[in-house]
Amino acid sequence: MALERTAELPRRRGMPTLGAMGIHRCETCGSLNRVPAERKGQKPKCGSCKNVVDTSGYPQEVDDDGLRTTVESSPVPVLVDFWAPWCGPCHQAAPIVESIAEDKAGDIVVLKVNTDEAKASGTRLQIRSIPTFILFENGKEVARQSGVMPREQMARWVERR
Ligand SMILES: [Zn+2]
Repeated sequence: MALERTAELPRRRGMPTLGAMGIHRCETCGSLNRVPAERKGQKPKCGSCKNVVDTSGYPQEVDDDGLRTTVESSPVPVLVDFWAPWCGPCHQAAPIVESIAEDKAGDIVVLKVNTDEAKASGTRLQIRSIPTFILFENGKEVARQSGVMPREQMARWVERR
């Protein structure tokens, strides 16, 4: 809603136009913050807990509650990497996920869920093998893929093209 209102603001000559907003999750409290693109590099503070929000897009590890809360409240797509420390292919996939997460910082939120610890999520979402990647939009699962994907393929999959 805020973004729609922004688009309707009259533009005056000489006034700086409002830049694009990115959504960035606060790793400390889990709040989702709207950060203007031009403020990304200025260590913006979380609107809820006032800690510095990481705007790099780097995947954040979440537990069952963190996953549910973020997926249900995010205005941008949420990509979740379900993994476990003992899983070789998961470690292969990790740098690919990180690279895509940083490329799309602000446009998507990327989370990692350790299925050994967040067991309720694994059961609720019927994760049968790892790594499994799920893309959520508006709180709903819209795409799912298991196994490591080459970077280009994964980037296309995230874009849903
Ligand atoms: Zn916070």
